[in-house]
Amino acid sequence: MFCQAARRCSRPVATTLRLARPKRSYASTAGPMFDWEDPLATKTLLTEEELAISETAERYCQERMLPRVLQAYRDEHYDAAILTEMGELGLLGANLEGYGCAGVSTVASGLITRAVERVDSGYRSGMSVQSSLVMGGIHAFGSTEQKERFLPSMAQGKMLGCFGLTEPNHGSDPGSMEATARPHPSKSGYVLLSGAKTWITNSPIADVLMVWAKMQETGKIRGFLVERKNCPTGTLETPPIKNKNGLRASITGMIQLDDCPVPLANMFPDVEGLSGPFTCLNSARMGIAFGVMGALEDCLARARTYALERRQFKNNPIAKYQLVQKKLSDAATDASYGVLAAIQVSRLKDEGKATPEMISLIKRQNCDRALVNARTLQEIFGGNAVSDEYAIGRHVANLFVTQTYEGQSDIHSLILGRAITGIQAFV
Ligand SMILES: Cc1cc2nc3c(=O)[nH]c(=O)nc-3n(C[C@H](O)[C@H](O)[C@H](O)COP(=O)(O)OP(=O)(O)OC[C@H]3O[C@@H](n4cnc5c(N)ncnc54)[C@H](O)[C@@H]3O)c2cc1C
Repeated sequence: MFCQAARRCSRPVATTLRLARPKRSYASTAGPMFDWEDPLATKTLLTEEELAISETAERYCQERMLPRVLQAYRDEHYDAAILTEMGELGLLGANLEGYGCAGVSTVASGLITRAVERVDSGYRSGMSVQSSLVMGGIHAFGSTEQKERFLPSMAQGKMLGCFGLTEPNHGSDPGSMEATARPHPSKSGYVLLSGAKTWITNSPIADVLMVWAKMQETGKIRGFLVERKNCPTGTLETPPIKNKNGLRASITGMIQLDDCPVPLANMFPDVEGLSGPFTCLNSARMGIAFGVMGALEDCLARARTYALERRQFKNNPIAKYQLVQKKLSDAATDASYGVLAAIQVSRLKDEGKATPEMISLIKRQNCDRALVNARTLQEIFGGNAVSDEYAIGRHVANLFVTQTYEGQSDIHSLILGRAITGIQAFV
């Protein structure tokens, strides 16, 4: 594919950056080689199985997802077939045990999100909602019957889910949510759900909507699995939120509930309060910490290619200039530190030793560094950065969202600040 901006740069836009590069060895008779794509040799920390899963995911993402993303982003269109394709490859809910899920390590699951987000954060968001927030939540808190009913079809991508926590008036402070569940006045074993959720990834296309609401009688937060097919007309609406300027390759909408009848069999039986949604979010935040490193690595690879090809002043490639090299060095450093940290916390999670604060730390740091570096790398493209065919502007717009959702970075600062000082600064 050749870029439209050919009058300024006649080089082809690399569409398969990842696959086109030769494999590099870590050691040779001449000593270990530095690999700019993996500066701290994090591959040496992975098992054979994790490497194989990463390769499968990278191949699928580069061959099948990447060719679709430019048009999808322009059209603000989410192709739900992507989730079915990922299901066929066993990439959904991959770290969950049983119910048709692969049961791989948290690192392997993180490598999948990194591969997807190397293409686009919106695609990764659609997958994370399905895998971590909804399937992860059902796996952690669902009854055996709920797990059997939902998880196998969700793992295949045949049933799509969304996670409804944020409300129009309550984002960073979900404990103040207004959505309620009250006993059905005439139907025993049912509640009526009312309220509005906003900025909900996948809501317009979801078959099952995980909704967090307060029991009217007790004020306690409970989780409900709302099945769209069972909602009477007029009790559930999920209008899309259009004209976003980030995450345009994902679909986002509202959830509007008006006395929607839901059987108590669809309520999580035991979990109460914010620990329910926060547990789901912790799992998803791990995936984000890995994922955004994929987006940053893609920005770095594209900026490097561009800097080596673009010539200015005495026909020198701009990669020759120190200021450009510093930008590339900063990005490579932050990406490699971020991947290392994500691997460490993932390993601790699998050993039962990870704390929510560790997850806040890597979610905040990796999202912040990915955004800052992507914005800086964008400068390397000069005017061409404005053309969407160079992809860098799309990553920058997406990475703003990743820094904002699932706990905006400043909120994670408060979580860490509370852990460091023992004093909470939220209110
Ligand atoms: C594209 C997209 C997809 C999303 N998908 C989902 C989804 O699937 N499910 C879901 O439930 N939600 C989703 N969200 C919502 C997202 O999680 C919220 O936007 C986020 O939690 C922030 O809430 P808010 O937008 O209401 O911002 P606010 O809470 O109003 O915060 C605005 C600013 O104020 C700051 N702030 C707030 N309180 C404090 C404080 N005490 N001290 C210091 N600073 C503070 C914040 O850090 C932020 O910078 C999505 C959002 C977007 C944009």
